[in-house]
Amino acid sequence: MACPHDHQIADNYGVTCQDCGKPLEGYGYWASTETCQHRWIDNGDGWESCLYCEATRQRDESSDSTA
Ligand SMILES: [Zn+2]
Ligand SMILES: [Zn+2]
Repeated sequence: MACPHDHQIADNYGVTCQDCGKPLEGYGYWASTETCQHRWIDNGDGWESCLYCEATRQRDESSDSTA
């Protein structure tokens, strides 16, 4: 039942699993979902921004293990 997401397809909008169709990052491949699953990139200065949308957030030091 749990899909290992071994076959992923990606474009500028996001990443989707080809096997189960689940959007894994951003808006999914070809923007298949309206909700961005943020992929946070550290910009330095204690801030992170999403690779796929315009969102930014202050880096949360307590959630380092979620990558
Ligand atoms: Zn999958
Ligand atoms: Zn985002």
